[in-house]
Formats: sequence, structure tokens, C-alpha cells
Amino acid sequence: MAEKLALPSDILAVIEEFMPGEGTYSDEKGFIRSARLGYVYKDKIFKVVSVKHPLGKPFIPKQGMIVLGVVTSVKEDLVFVDIIADKDGKMFSGKFTGIIHLSQASKVFIKTIEDAFKLSDIVLAKVLTDRIPPYQLTTKPPELGVIAAMCSKCGEIMIRKDENTLLCPRCGNVEKRKVAASYLIRPNPKNNKKRVRG
Ligand SMILES: [Zn+2]
Repeated sequence: MAEKLALPSDILAVIEEFMPGEGTYSDEKGFIRSARLGYVYKDKIFKVVSVKHPLGKPFIPKQGMIVLGVVTSVKEDLVFVDIIADKDGKMFSGKFTGIIHLSQASKVFIKTIEDAFKLSDIVLAKVLTDRIPPYQLTTKPPELGVIAAMCSKCGEIMIRKDENTLLCPRCGNVEKRKVAASYLIRPNPKNNKKRVRG
């Protein structure tokens, strides 16, 4: 059971009484201090004191994860993406920036990044590296890419024409994108399971 909330560096116990556990450290004077903001737990049987995150473990993008994001800026050969949630829509604990480089946008050759993405596109992408921010993303596989986009002429939500093209149902405008196979279909792993016919 949690005893109380601790701030970083708060004294929790002395090393004669307890061992420093998760989220704590011992200083040179023999005090066990909190290393984070969280709830204090004292295990009186094993004599361990720990501090746990108040909201549980933070949820952050990891290498190999499929993530949902919004294109926030378009540069010469890359786009910046705000990574918002995992593919099931579970929100990450905070704001994470990703980039998709031209070479990672599509399996087929594209001349400029504008042929793959535009500002405010919703994208489904895979995390290539998570070591140093910003996260490197790829949309090369057919199931990845733009999953929702607005017409840059009239603002209507565009519909999928083929894997490289979107069509505006209102004004007839045609725009290039790296269109995901699941364009305007919310990714849901349950629907991907093969049905057993009885
Ligand atoms: Zn339009």
C-alpha cells in the first residue's frame, strides 16, 4: 500500500532500517532519498523502500512499434511528425517528435517528400530508432503511410484512389501521397485475425 507522495530528493528512510529500492538512492550520509515524484512503498518484511510513478509506467514509443502521428512540418527531404498514440489509439505519456526521411517514405522512388506527405496528414508509421530524439520513422510497407488527409484546396477529407493518389470528393482535386492500405480505416488488430470457418 502506498504511504505518501514523495518529491525527488525527499528523505524516505535511513539505510540502517531499509534497503534502497526502485526509484530511490542512498546518499553519502546514509539517507535513502526519492529519485522521482511518486508514491512511497515500504516493504516491511523485506525492508525495501521504493517510489513508484503515480500514473504507472510512462508509455513511450519504442523501436518496432507502429504509431499514429500528425505531420507538423514539411522540409526539403523530410517531414516532422507529432507521435500521438500507438496503432490501437493508446495515447503516449507526452509529446514525442518523429521524422520521416524521403528515403523512408516509400518503397517506390518518389521525387520529393511533398509527393508522400503534406501538412496535417495523419500517418501510420513504424519506429526505426528510439535512441536519440527525434524518433526515426518509416512508412515503406504497404500497410503504412497516410491514413487520413484533407484536400489542400477545399479542406474536405480526401478518399483513396490508389496507393499513390488521393481524390477530393468535393472539388475533384487529385493529390499525391504515400497512401496506407488502411486509409480511412481505423487499424484494429482484432479485425486482422483470420476467421476460422466452422
Ligand atoms: Zn477539394
